[in-house]
Amino acid sequence: MISSGSRRPTLKSPEHEQDWLDSLEDGMVDETPLDSALFRQSVSLFTTGIVVVTCEDDGKVHGMTVNSFTSVSLAPPTVLISVKAGKTNRLITRNGRYGACILSETQLPYSAHFSGRPQESLRPEFVVRDRVPTLQSCLAWFECAVLEKVEVHDHSLFVAQVTACGNEDGTPLMFYASRYHRRAIDS
Ligand SMILES: Cc1cc2nc3c(=O)[nH]c(=O)nc-3n(C[C@H](O)[C@H](O)[C@H](O)COP(=O)(O)OP(=O)(O)OC[C@H]3O[C@@H](n4cnc5c(N)ncnc54)[C@H](O)[C@@H]3O)c2cc1C
Repeated sequence: MISSGSRRPTLKSPEHEQDWLDSLEDGMVDETPLDSALFRQSVSLFTTGIVVVTCEDDGKVHGMTVNSFTSVSLAPPTVLISVKAGKTNRLITRNGRYGACILSETQLPYSAHFSGRPQESLRPEFVVRDRVPTLQSCLAWFECAVLEKVEVHDHSLFVAQVTACGNEDGTPLMFYASRYHRRAIDS
């Protein structure tokens, strides 16, 4: 086991809670600086799927690969993504809507394609089921309307309500320890 970091803020009483809330407003956490390589390695052990975020871009569709997609609440159906500054961030901010498409294990090339490594032979097909374009074929698709944009360091969290969704048969493409994986076991 590798570890780092020692002091953690504690909430012992209501007075401490106010101090803690004040420190959040200052955007400060009083901790020993963390080794960034260790953080990267440790957080990569959280297994995720792969999602292509899709946005309307003046009659075309722009896509971006993320693994920061997560569900926030079931009722109302709410999700979030964390997106660094760039084209997708600008388009979601302008449109107030985005699509999220969970890739199946057969769609690995899409992940590279939409993360800055265009695959010459790939011709992604998009469809608007209700209001937002999403991939015509994927494990699950969501059309999302942004509720809140929260700036955190160099990323924006786009919290959004799901306005339409659907899914099809298949198995997920997974991302773990900075590599792609396919399902190894059933249980
Ligand atoms: C596994 C993985 C997970 C990631 N997770 C995140 C994350 O959670 N958050 C985050 O901020 N970044 C994440 N990234 C990085 C992110 O995918 C890249 O930095 C991406 O290039 C940023 O996209 P952009 O829209 O900002 O800019 P761009 O680099 O301008 O666009 C993305 C790429 O997709 C191409 N493209 C877009 N639409 C189309 C289309 N319709 N047809 C053909 N090509 C198209 C563009 O040409 C470009 O190559 C992840 C990358 C990987 C590989």
